[in-house]
Amino acid sequence: MFSKNMNRTRAVVVGGGIAGKLAARVLSEFFKEIILIEKDKKDDHITNRKGVPQGNQGHVLLKSGEEIIEELFPGIFQELSRNGAKKTNFARDLLWSHHGTQKIRFDSNVFISQQSRPLLEWQIQQRLEKIPNINFRFECKVQNLKFNNDEMNTIVIEDKNGAVTELLADIVIDASGAAALHNQWLKDSGYKIPTKTEIKVDVFYASMVFKKLSHESINWHSLLAYPNPPDVERGGMISPIEGNRMLVTLIGYGTKELPKDIDSFLEYAASVEQSEFYDVIKNESPLSEDVQIYRFPSLRRYHFEKLRNFPSGLLIIGDAFCRVDPVFAQGMSLAAMEAKALRELLMQGLNKKQLTKNYHKKVSRILDIPWLIALTEDFRFRTTSGRKPIGLPILQWYVKSVVTACSHNEHVYSRFIQVLHLKSHPISLAHPGILAKVFKTTK
Ligand SMILES: Cc1cc2nc3c(=O)[nH]c(=O)nc-3n(C[C@H](O)[C@H](O)[C@H](O)COP(=O)(O)OP(=O)(O)OC[C@H]3O[C@@H](n4cnc5c(N)ncnc54)[C@H](O)[C@@H]3O)c2cc1C
Repeated sequence: MFSKNMNRTRAVVVGGGIAGKLAARVLSEFFKEIILIEKDKKDDHITNRKGVPQGNQGHVLLKSGEEIIEELFPGIFQELSRNGAKKTNFARDLLWSHHGTQKIRFDSNVFISQQSRPLLEWQIQQRLEKIPNINFRFECKVQNLKFNNDEMNTIVIEDKNGAVTELLADIVIDASGAAALHNQWLKDSGYKIPTKTEIKVDVFYASMVFKKLSHESINWHSLLAYPNPPDVERGGMISPIEGNRMLVTLIGYGTKELPKDIDSFLEYAASVEQSEFYDVIKNESPLSEDVQIYRFPSLRRYHFEKLRNFPSGLLIIGDAFCRVDPVFAQGMSLAAMEAKALRELLMQGLNKKQLTKNYHKKVSRILDIPWLIALTEDFRFRTTSGRKPIGLPILQWYVKSVVTACSHNEHVYSRFIQVLHLKSHPISLAHPGILAKVFKTTK
């Protein structure tokens, strides 16, 4: 049981995506009142929201994120499963081609919950609405923040009718996602904005929903055809979502011509290296009429931890802090890990200044490894540009050796899964026992 300290008065969360929702849940233990401000209107059913344009693309929740969300909302994954989410065995039920090899399949002890992102968000929202000290202001936009003596003090909000109100707040969490509203707020008040690292990847996603696929070759629940860079820049994934449906997503790096209808969607699918990807959908009709496209130009990470003069009480979470390449499915789990870090620091009873500083430092450390994992892979593509990590050729060489071993060694693949799900540090892949297996030539 976590201790509670209700001396603090009001916290405001800006943005009601996954990061904002998890932050609100954490804050509800420590503040008398939490106000969550969201520019979209309140959903009365499970749907993709305008403010989350990536929501209709494939979203896999890693184990690290699942565990934290379950800890914050006990029983939520049972509720999800009652609403159609599918529990799958990661190593057994996923057909995964990776760098020209196929992952060995076996009964692992890692089970994940597969559902659409709108269902996951909706289920979290249902739980938040039961927490008495969380209030919602939908269809409201934050115009600005006001600071007093380097402390966050007032938040200026505009509602859907254009009425502007001011709210006093002890802390504000910026969970505005790609909008990264903090930049404008800081600029407007004369603060230095944080430096940022940007890596251009030019990834696109294109998704369509199909009914359950019936091809006779299917003995899996999900399929992931990761591109095989540098030569093959195209890939795709097929994953189960509620309603007994399959979400089929195409991905590509540096692609100029994007699929825009079912014909060009199938044409693109046929060019994916793993032929089963196309085979299982070619004779099926999609349930969705349109191809949903999302372009992700670059990974972006702000360095709040390096700022000296940062106003106390403004904390950044989720994509507003860092956007990693979505292909690695880390974003929602990072938001969960950051929410957990916030909780741990709030439990220490720090003052506002210490909380702000320690939180941004802690989040920055959380981001280091996922960021490195993404960059190691992204720099295999010819179109990626930006500052490369130190030791990149060695990292890429070793990861590729591990990936190859995952095609025939359950032990190596199990360890790889732990790293992929952000449950273990990648250094665990350099353990002597793993090294020996990676470099064992006989299978
Ligand atoms: C194509 C794609 C695929 C992805 N796949 C995965 C995946 O498989 N697994 C995974 O874990 N992650 C994935 N992600 C990442 C994931 O979507 C996010 O990292 C994660 O949801 C955290 O987002 P967030 O809550 O910070 O921001 P968002 O989900 O973008 O939410 C931001 C919220 O802020 C609101 N907002 C914005 N401006 C204002 C304003 N002025 N006032 C009030 N509200 C405002 C928006 O309406 C929105 O509700 C993917 C991302 C993309 C782009």
